[in-house]
Amino acid sequence: MKMFLAGQWVERSEVLEVRHPYDGSLVDTVPQATEEDVQTAVAAAEKGARQMRRLSAYDRYRILRRAAELMAERQTMLGELISREEGKVLREGHYEAQRATITMEVSAEEAKRLYGEVLPMDGAPGAERKFGFTLRVPCGIVVAITPFNFPLNLVCHKVGPALAAGNAVIVKPATDTPLSALKLVEILLEAGLPPLAVQCLTGRGPQVGHALCADPRVRKISFTGSAEVGEKICRVAGLKRVTMELGSNSPLIVLDDADLNKVTEATLVCGYTNAGQVCISAQRVIASQPVYEELVERLRESVSKLVAGDPFSPQTTVGPLIRSADAQRVEEWIQEAVGQGARLLCGGRRRQSIVEPAVLAEVRPDMRVYRDELFGPAVCLARASSFDEAIHLANDSRYGLSAAVFTQDIDRALAFAQRVESGNIHINWGPQWRADFMPYGGLKQSGMGKEGPRYAIEEMTELKTVVVHLSEPAE
Ligand code: NAD
Repeated sequence: MKMFLAGQWVERSEVLEVRHPYDGSLVDTVPQATEEDVQTAVAAAEKGARQMRRLSAYDRYRILRRAAELMAERQTMLGELISREEGKVLREGHYEAQRATITMEVSAEEAKRLYGEVLPMDGAPGAERKFGFTLRVPCGIVVAITPFNFPLNLVCHKVGPALAAGNAVIVKPATDTPLSALKLVEILLEAGLPPLAVQCLTGRGPQVGHALCADPRVRKISFTGSAEVGEKICRVAGLKRVTMELGSNSPLIVLDDADLNKVTEATLVCGYTNAGQVCISAQRVIASQPVYEELVERLRESVSKLVAGDPFSPQTTVGPLIRSADAQRVEEWIQEAVGQGARLLCGGRRRQSIVEPAVLAEVRPDMRVYRDELFGPAVCLARASSFDEAIHLANDSRYGLSAAVFTQDIDRALAFAQRVESGNIHINWGPQWRADFMPYGGLKQSGMGKEGPRYAIEEMTELKTVVVHLSEPAE
């Protein structure tokens, strides 16, 4: 595909290949944007931002609404493209396309809700003749940098709110998965978006992404990706607003009164969806001593039945990792943990980019497979001898994106919600659950700021305060 720069679909002599993660077949190529392209894009976005500012909220709503309708009509094509470039099983590709449509629908609605407020000025001494209110205005140019694992929905989580708020947006999609983002641009243009309001530059992060983040004309960076890259971006961003949606190694706590059927079902969904390449995957299952052995048995039995393979085959439940190198890393971390005393209950073997779904028991907090973000199809089991120890283990991480607890005891469930350092908390389901409208974002090194269109719009707008100095008191 071509990339969309300054109102034109363009090609470049240097291209990047997009390959299907399962068999390495060539899906398509995209241009490698240059530093000069970044300059052109930002200059065009300045014009695009002025055009967007002049559109009414209702016009922005109508364009986004139409885009969501077009996405719904093209759901099958979008779902297949997601699975082709990312490697997730087809059912998950379709599910992502459906969620992305909802994200755009919610963004359209939120375009009409950019409220300000009247300020009670007479609350300050001597300010009886003042009348104050706030205005919410767009930031100007938003740069959206996205990861490979949800190549459409996470782009929508940035582009939808940016446009709803009246900004121009430049997308730098993940190097491995740029095609769904380019399709989204086609749809937005067809829906009537001014062509300078959206651009999509394909290319490598350290060049294209870096140049976009360093440009002083950009007012806002919305990034989703690894903590390491997020930190680099914060260093070059300077005086810009940033939203950082970063990684995690989410805990799932199982207390002694938990419903183990539900725990098993949730662990299968939350630990192995998208081959574990989800920022809120259940990575650390911490079970109370009395239920530990039974859970070990249940997980061994059910995870062994998962089928890893071709994402387009209906039998497959777990697809490949994005690259063979990642599969190799996951295999190595599992082997390293086994060497350090963990018990491998099933899986863990690798075939090219496929890793057989694995469960590791007797995992200790110092093992890499538990301590760092694994981003692969394996779940670690550890024991807790008390509720306090379970909370301590859940918090023993540099991350804090999502955490879950299974218990029938409302007091312990709410104590968990209060004491666990995590942006999202789930009670009686695993950490991997999200409705696209809800506020979503991490604590600690999982990031800062929130997504979910209403909350992203707050971060992509500026608040102005207006004070009218009246000659007479208002009443
Ligand atoms: P990544 O950090 O390697 O890349 C993310 C994006 O940053 C890509 O577009 C990449 O090209 C770009 N990039 C790389 N170097 C850059 C630089 N120096 N300057 C600017 N941009 C640069 O992440 P990934 O491997 O694509 O995705 C996996 C990571 O994303 C995991 O850590 C995962 O937890 C995280 N993630 C977080 C969320 C969330 O909502 N918190 C959601 C999905 C994924």
